[in-house]
Amino acid sequence: MGTTGTWGTWGAVADTSRLERKPRTKRPGFPCPRHTAEPRQPMLELLWPSQCAGCDVLGRGRLCPLCLPDWCRRVQVDTEHVSAAWSCASLDDPLGNALRKAKYGHDRSLMFELAAVFAIATAPLTPFCTAVVAVPTTPFRQLRRGFSPAAILAGELSRQTRIAVRQPLRMKAGADQASLSASARRRSMAGRIGSVGTVRGRVLLVDDVCTTGATADACAQELLCAGAAEVLLATVCAARRPAHILRDNARHT
Ligand SMILES: [Zn+2]
Repeated sequence: MGTTGTWGTWGAVADTSRLERKPRTKRPGFPCPRHTAEPRQPMLELLWPSQCAGCDVLGRGRLCPLCLPDWCRRVQVDTEHVSAAWSCASLDDPLGNALRKAKYGHDRSLMFELAAVFAIATAPLTPFCTAVVAVPTTPFRQLRRGFSPAAILAGELSRQTRIAVRQPLRMKAGADQASLSASARRRSMAGRIGSVGTVRGRVLLVDDVCTTGATADACAQELLCAGAAEVLLATVCAARRPAHILRDNARHT
């Protein structure tokens, strides 16, 4: 009659096996960029040690774990048409050093490695977006460099997150932006960006560097005219001092 089960006087033996907690499994999500670097073969590394493009330290891979960003951060950009901007690092950081080497050293493989890091860091932004758009470049500049950094970034981000890449923007040839002031950049960009297609919803505009925001603003203006509801900006580096990187939203949104 009487039993010593949990329910005691009712004579029922509690079956606690169904109440046992299942072991916790890791929630699906985006991996941290610091833990994604693929180690090279030990013998290859011994004979020809790799050099980090960010901090120049030998033997830690092309982009060592210490130079990788944790996540992209909100940055303050003075633009009318970009709703919010994120960047993985400041241009003064080791990641900025690696980006300069990729761009001005015409290092396409390093650009792809940076794109993989960028895609992981910015992937949390993409569930809110309907399309990824790369900031366009001129055909001459693309031929001279051998690749378009923004196009590689957008392609890798799309490959990792399955968000469609749209390219409705075109850029006409004009003065090189690198040596111009903020006001001169805005004047230079006026009329150089045009759109040849339509987009819908919230668009994530992608570029390698955000310096003054003039190029991104011109692109965002065209995207809004082409049908976008909102334009967000994500770049690998921002040419801003760390004080301009907003600290209260270190991850996203
Ligand atoms: Zn490094």
